[in-house]
Amino acid sequence: MRSLRIDMHVHMVGNGFAGSGGWLRLNGWHHWLARFMVRQLGFPPDVIHGNLERVYARHLLEFVRASSFDAIVLLAHERVHDPDGKPREDLGSMYVPNDVVLDLADAHPEFLAGVSIHPARADALDELDRCLDRGAVLMKCLPNCQNIDPSDRRYRRFWERMAEAGLPLLAHTGGEHTVPIVNARLADPKLLRLPLECGVTVIAAHCATKSGPLDPDYFDDWAAMLAEFPKLYGDISAMVSLNRCAHLRDCLRPEIEPRIVHGSDFPVPVLGHRMWLDGLVSWSSFRQAQRIPNPLERDWQFKKALGFSGEVRTRATGLLRLPDGKRRYSEAAAAHGYVVPRLGYAEGPHFGNGSLYSEPLREVSRRRRDSG
Ligand SMILES: [Zn+2]
Repeated sequence: MRSLRIDMHVHMVGNGFAGSGGWLRLNGWHHWLARFMVRQLGFPPDVIHGNLERVYARHLLEFVRASSFDAIVLLAHERVHDPDGKPREDLGSMYVPNDVVLDLADAHPEFLAGVSIHPARADALDELDRCLDRGAVLMKCLPNCQNIDPSDRRYRRFWERMAEAGLPLLAHTGGEHTVPIVNARLADPKLLRLPLECGVTVIAAHCATKSGPLDPDYFDDWAAMLAEFPKLYGDISAMVSLNRCAHLRDCLRPEIEPRIVHGSDFPVPVLGHRMWLDGLVSWSSFRQAQRIPNPLERDWQFKKALGFSGEVRTRATGLLRLPDGKRRYSEAAAAHGYVVPRLGYAEGPHFGNGSLYSEPLREVSRRRRDSG
C-alpha cells in the first residue's frame, strides 16, 4: 500500500447546534482565544453560535483538499470524568462526541476518526468496541484536562483491549493553554508506562514539551523512554508556535526523528516568528512559509524548512488502525495518480478565505470526487 501523507492531530470543534449532543463553553481567555482562531481561519464571525460543526468541517475539508495531504485524523473530545467514572459536566470547555468524527470519516475519505473515551466510564469497553466497529483509527485523550491517570491499574483491561485491536493511543503530554487544566500532574509522559507495558502504541502529543513559561518541561523524560519502549512515538503538533518551538530541532536528532509523526494541532495557530528569531529557519523560508494561507500546509512547510523528512508525515500510515475502506481509497489514489497538486501560495494572504475558494481549488475538489 502506498503510504498516506497524514496530519494525525486535527481537532474537531463544535457546539452541538444541530443536535450532536456536544457542547462548547468558553470563558475569559478561552473565549478570546476562540474568537482569535475564528478570525484567523476566515470563518463567519458569528459561527460560534451557529452551526459550527458544519462550517468547521466544510472549511477543513477544503483545507485538506487544497493541501499536499491525503488525509487528516479528526479528533473527538471526551468530557472530564472523576476517577470513579462519574462525568463532570461542570468542568471542561468542550465535548465533541465520537459519532461526530465517525460520521464525518464515513462521509469523506480525507477524514480519519480519532475517538476519545475516558477509560473510567462505566461503558468504556463497550464504547471502545463500538468505535472500533465504526472504524476508529486512534484514541485521543488529554490526561491533564480530562482527568485521566493512564497509570491507574483499573484501566489495564481498557489498554489491553486497545492493544489487541491495534488501536494507538494519542495522549496529550506537557502543559496546555487552549483547554482548561483539571490536574496538572497528569501532564507527565512517565504515566504512559502502563499502556505501553500493555502493548499499546502510544504517541505522546507535543513530545511532552512545555506550553507556558512556568510549565515543567518533560521532553527529556519522554526522549529517555524511547529507548525502553519501541512502541512509543511523539508528535510535533502545535510546535510551530511561539511557546513550543524550542525542542523542534531536537526532534531531528537521529535517535529521535524515526519516532516522530506529523500533526498540526489545527486550529491552534501556526506562528513561525520565533523559529526565525531563534535562527531555526532563514528569513526567506520564514516569509515563504508564513504567507501560505492554508494552515495545514503552512505548518508542514515550516517543518520541512527545518529539515523534517517526508517520512515524518507518512509514518502514521503504519501506526494507525486504518479501516479497509480507507486503504482502498489510498490504493485507488495511487492507481489513478490523482494527487492534489501543490499550489503556488507565495502571493496569498496570511489568513482568510480569499484565495481558499479560488477556481483552481474547486477544480481540484471536483476531480478528486469524480475519480474517487
Ligand atoms: Zn491538540
